[in-house]
Amino acid sequence: MLDKKKIKEKLESERDVLLEQMKGLGRLNEETGEWETTPEELEFPESDENDKADRFEDFEARSSMMKPLETRLSNILKAIKGINRESFGKCEVCKKDIEMTRLEVNPAARTCKKHLDSISEES
Ligand SMILES: [Zn+2]
Repeated sequence: MLDKKKIKEKLESERDVLLEQMKGLGRLNEETGEWETTPEELEFPESDENDKADRFEDFEARSSMMKPLETRLSNILKAIKGINRESFGKCEVCKKDIEMTRLEVNPAARTCKKHLDSISEES
C-alpha cells in the first residue's frame, strides 16, 4: 500500500524548491501560464558588443536550465493532481505498484523500475 500522504508532501516540497529555482531564472507569464526566461538584471548600461554577447550567452544558458525544470514541474503538478486516483503510483506499462523506493526518488514516476525506459518522462 502506497503512503500517498507522504508522497504528496514530498511532491509539494519538491514543487516549492523547483518554483524557487525557476523564479531565479525567469518569471511565469500569467496570461499563457508558461515560464519565460528573463535576462539577468542589468547593473550597468550596455557598454560594448562583447558585453552584449556575454549576456546573450548567459540568457541561453538560463533558458536551457529552465526547460528541464519546467518539464519536471509539470510532471510533479500532474502527479499531485492525480494522487488520489486509483491509478496513481501504478506503472503505466504493467499496471503494478511502482516501487516505494523509486517513488521516493521521483514521486512523479510513471513506471516501475523494470519499465523505466519504456516511457519517456519528458512527455
Ligand atoms: Zn512496469
